[in-house]
Amino acid sequence: MLMEKERALIAEYGRKMNSAGLARGTAGNISIYDAETGYMAISPSGIGYFETEPEDVVVLTLDGKVVDGNRKPSSEYGLHAGFYKAKADKGVRAIVHTHSDFATTLACMGEPIRAVHYVIASAGTHEIPLCGYTTFGTPKLAEMAVEACGDAPAVLLANHGLVACGVDLPKAFGLADKLENLAKTQWQCMCTGKMNVLTKEQIDEVLVRFQTYGQTKAKPGTLNSY
Ligand code: 13P
Ligand code: ZN
Repeated sequence: MLMEKERALIAEYGRKMNSAGLARGTAGNISIYDAETGYMAISPSGIGYFETEPEDVVVLTLDGKVVDGNRKPSSEYGLHAGFYKAKADKGVRAIVHTHSDFATTLACMGEPIRAVHYVIASAGTHEIPLCGYTTFGTPKLAEMAVEACGDAPAVLLANHGLVACGVDLPKAFGLADKLENLAKTQWQCMCTGKMNVLTKEQIDEVLVRFQTYGQTKAKPGTLNSY
């Protein structure tokens, strides 16, 4: 079985995503990219996370040719492939797409995730941008999402959900989870009508501080390094 380890990890993280409350039913999808072979392993379309076994995960080229697996791949394989094509040189090796409650609420309101809490700097950015609405599973969505994301590590999809990028699957998952929590904080503030967004300068200071926060670090300024 091609990409055996990655397929097992995708099955494992699907369950985690569901248990963590980041995914309900068959919403969302997960992929891992192998830059050496150019293959991407992605969760199957429309199968519940607790029913998904490693052999249900599909291996594809970035042009959408199935190279291993009997299932139909996620309807968003083009979205994931678009990010790998655009961002593999920035170290993106895994993607988590969710319809998690609060990120999706902001996306439905047409709101990016703003610097309401300083912890957004631990995603290495001042803001998680918002991409305009278009139909799920389309090449247009892939194109718009990659463009709206720009240099950010994640993007909100209007009236849809969140896409989070990582150097590996634990990092992409951790980012999706962190952004869900930040979206919740922002939504709560918006409900009260009181929200103080930190300035770019304030976040720049936190970005510097995060370079020495915690334990061993990846090279500062690289994806998921904060
Ligand atoms: P799949 O089940 O095809 O992965 O689709 C779920 C989804 O989130 C579509 O945007
Ligand atoms: Zn979706």
